[in-house]
Amino acid sequence: MAANGQENVGFADIRSSHCVTLARAFAGITQKELASLMGRSQPFVARLEKSDFDVDEYVGQLVDAFRQRGVTFPPSFFRHTKYLAPESAVTFRKRSSCPAAVRDRAEFYAHVVPTLVAPLVERFVKYPVCDLPPMPVDWNSAVRDPRAIGAGAARALRAYWGLGWGPISDVMRLVESRGIRLFFVRERSQHLDGFAFWSNDIPFILLNSLQDDPARMRFDLAHELGHLVMHRELELDQRSRGHSLDLIESMAHGFAAEFLAPWEVLKNEVPSIVNLDKLGRLRSRWRISMQAIVKQMHANGALSDAAYTNAFRRFSSLGYRRGPEPVWIMPDTSVIHKKFLETLASRGLYVANLAEEVGLSERLLSDLIPQSTASTQMDFDSFRMS
Ligand SMILES: [Zn+2]
Repeated sequence: MAANGQENVGFADIRSSHCVTLARAFAGITQKELASLMGRSQPFVARLEKSDFDVDEYVGQLVDAFRQRGVTFPPSFFRHTKYLAPESAVTFRKRSSCPAAVRDRAEFYAHVVPTLVAPLVERFVKYPVCDLPPMPVDWNSAVRDPRAIGAGAARALRAYWGLGWGPISDVMRLVESRGIRLFFVRERSQHLDGFAFWSNDIPFILLNSLQDDPARMRFDLAHELGHLVMHRELELDQRSRGHSLDLIESMAHGFAAEFLAPWEVLKNEVPSIVNLDKLGRLRSRWRISMQAIVKQMHANGALSDAAYTNAFRRFSSLGYRRGPEPVWIMPDTSVIHKKFLETLASRGLYVANLAEEVGLSERLLSDLIPQSTASTQMDFDSFRMS
């Protein structure tokens, strides 16, 4: 998709919160394509998306048009003309290389989840009060050592939440207990591990449920938590503030590693040379990937550049870079989702029963609130250490 032009829904110009713009962003179609599916002209769609009046008389045509592209929106999706816009940047891992279509879908979720899905959950389950303090960033120091600044923020948050310095048994449960809204997307893109944003003073994290290693999903979650506390002030176009995406990503990585495994404690447990058995035991204890442990070692000067490179070559050859690592760990669990699903079940309901009313397809709503919060359909035998 081109990076400019009126009919584009690229990241820079999606600031519209109009239901039709968002539906296009999700379906990955331009105004011109939508117009042609509706038997209309592109200026007609442009006018529709600019206006504040409701789109009542066109709802049938819109639903049909998207269905022709294999995307289901119930008519009720178009009942909300304007969706809640995220107040902060929607931050992605690997965003610099993230295709426009994936970013557009993330923007779709960032509008739709706070408007439609979180209120649905709150009808059945009370969220804890939000307790996520901002950790203002000294950008001058961050430019010099972004990872260290991220790690500092992680220690500050651990101290503020009174977590001590040991392993965190369940990060999902923890962030939910502090009022963060957690949801899931099923996106077959390597470019989307998760993303985070603030909407109406409420922090949201969405994780890709296709992540096949629970340890990595915890890291993704901690990474996004780092964005929420450190990067709330960033404008949608971060580059306008002169901070590169790499810098922001390094800070979030540094935050995640330190939040999950504080170096002051971890340093006493790491092997002096890379040893898969020992790393596997640490993975099991701290519930982070062996690769994240090796990165922590390297970032803190406990591993030479050469040893670090060798370790990653080995991880690559063993297939751990793309696939899950050995040493199975139990996935974290969303307590809020569990309570929500149980409450529904006690009333004889399933998530799918509420989709039409909420304004999303059954499939999309079930993806956002899955029955299980991690891909657990794994063959345990394949997790023996090699
Ligand atoms: Zn990120």
